[in-house]
Amino acid sequence: MTGHPPTELPPGFARFEHGSLQCTVVSDGIIRLGPARESFPNAEPAEVDELLTRHYLPTDAVHLNQNILVVNTGDTLVMFDSGVGTDPELGLKTFGDEAGLLIRNLRAAGIEPEQIDLVALTHAHPDHAWGLADGAGAPLFPNASLAIGRADYQHWTDLSRVPDAPTEHQQDQIKGAHKNITAYDSRLILLDGGEQIAPGIRAIATPGHSPGHIVYEITSGDQTMICWGDLCHHQVLLLEHPEWNFMFDHDGTGATEQRVRIYDYVDANRYAVFGYHFPFPGHGHLRRDPGGFTWIPSDLPRRLPERSK
Ligand SMILES: [Zn+2]
Repeated sequence: MTGHPPTELPPGFARFEHGSLQCTVVSDGIIRLGPARESFPNAEPAEVDELLTRHYLPTDAVHLNQNILVVNTGDTLVMFDSGVGTDPELGLKTFGDEAGLLIRNLRAAGIEPEQIDLVALTHAHPDHAWGLADGAGAPLFPNASLAIGRADYQHWTDLSRVPDAPTEHQQDQIKGAHKNITAYDSRLILLDGGEQIAPGIRAIATPGHSPGHIVYEITSGDQTMICWGDLCHHQVLLLEHPEWNFMFDHDGTGATEQRVRIYDYVDANRYAVFGYHFPFPGHGHLRRDPGGFTWIPSDLPRRLPERSK
């Protein structure tokens, strides 16, 4: 063979077992932010740079993974969050073409959108909720119900707030949430926390980053993992410094309180964590260290292709 390797992206998915549940992590791609020191408004910029450098991460730009978990309980296929979508007026305009890959990678993993029974949102921000409907507003998961925090539904689909939103992006956040989420209005499940949305899957209210932010506790046999959405965006910065606020936190104090509470809960029970924005595929554990928590990515078992004889 001559020439360069193919430039086509590899299929972006990984599979693992969680108790008796089959889990697939499907990549929606990545989103790029500017320098981290500008994304955490109450952090000391030099400390942000130092921490990133110590972890061999660049300081000039942060990229966040978009890891979407699909859990097969045996009779229900549950997908957590939906990525940025490919709507030219929303996801493509805002995030470019390095994200919005969910549908392509779902199919590569052998899952058709029609097979998804339930989409469980952690919250209604663009990078989680704009992949629910197409540009015309039709549901991309036509057989799915939609679970969402009641407070997020009320806050983010309220179009009367658009005229007061100071920036175009903030206006898009409301219009985009309304377009994507109301596409499922006839099969909505509004969550206050504590509900079981499928066998072994429980909603936990974690308001802060968003008014109705939800994390999901997924248990099978003796295995439990917390699918935590944007409770924590960064595997280094916010694990060592839960008191730092991410620029899109709705209520910074609440976001910090929920981070500390859930970190302690996960640590005390030695649960696993699934991080939406963490390095792909986003599954791992927290280790409590003197300066905060350290992310320990899992070595997920992989099924390798069979050798030809
Ligand atoms: Zn996010």
